[in-house]
Amino acid sequence: MQAVVIHAPHDLRVEEPQAPLTVQGPDEVTVRIERGGICGSDLHYYHNGGFGTVRLQQPMILGHEVAGKVESVGANVKRIATGDRVAISPSRPCGACQFCQRGSQAHCEDMKFYGSAMRMPHIDGAFRETVIANEAQCFAVLPSLSAGEAAMAEPLAVALHAVNRAGPLVGRRILITGSGPIGALCAAAARRAGATEIVATDVEVYPLQIMEQIGVDYLFNVEQHEDALRSFAHGKGTFDVLFEASGNAAALLGALDTLRPGATIVQVGLGGDVTVPMNVIVAKELNLKGTFRFHEEFETAVDMMNHGLIDVSPLITQTLAFSQAEAAFELASDRTQAMKVQLAFS
Ligand code: ZN
Repeated sequence: MQAVVIHAPHDLRVEEPQAPLTVQGPDEVTVRIERGGICGSDLHYYHNGGFGTVRLQQPMILGHEVAGKVESVGANVKRIATGDRVAISPSRPCGACQFCQRGSQAHCEDMKFYGSAMRMPHIDGAFRETVIANEAQCFAVLPSLSAGEAAMAEPLAVALHAVNRAGPLVGRRILITGSGPIGALCAAAARRAGATEIVATDVEVYPLQIMEQIGVDYLFNVEQHEDALRSFAHGKGTFDVLFEASGNAAALLGALDTLRPGATIVQVGLGGDVTVPMNVIVAKELNLKGTFRFHEEFETAVDMMNHGLIDVSPLITQTLAFSQAEAAFELASDRTQAMKVQLAFS
């Protein structure tokens, strides 16, 4: 069983992992992985050995956006059958802590999220040929979805959670700064949630071309046209909601004038410390909200794709064999030619 293991920055190996595969329990299923999407956090481990205070301290299997085919199921498994094609949620909350009990599983005190160095020992990810998962993590996808699309359930769940954080979007005007995979999925999710006007920005041409296929109303390259958003700042601003998906301080600060009083900012991107003019937040009564992972939105993401309500296929720009993991990680780091790069495992 081969896996994609990060040892240190730029030391990514395809190898037999150290920890043996555990034995499938009665509530578990064994899944042969078909596709795995490379996420921004995987790239942070690859380039920098982590992000913020989260640092790689031991080799770890990467990957948390995966889908595959069920090879066997435990005796207690009811919802999933052998042969099912499933998207696997990387979220494994304990179910017992105070936050799980309140329905805030993303904030579980004992979370075991795939491919995360937040705790010791690190939690291995799912860039591997076979994974044993809890039944509760697995959601069947219809034959109409490709394995690649199924593996997009995780980033789509992130976007759906961000949209849920924004509140009702029916008839709202939306600004999305940062048109990478999460920004694009926020656009698709916001449209589905009833947004009437969606404006998206980026500093690169390529992601804006993909964003165009998602179907937004206006696209602006703010690298080429620094004042592109000025027309949206008339009066006291025109947008109801900002999804800040770039993690770039300039994007957040540049958008403040375009937000109407009472607007909501959902900070989706992670970019470290930012100095925010608090007088603007106070005087315009802006709502500044964080958004972190997801829980029930994973099932919603699979449901929406199964029903053809959101098409994620324009985002999958390249698929490479997992033996080419290093090349795939390099490609995924190049925003001028890649949106979502996926690894093929079988
Ligand atoms: Zn918990």
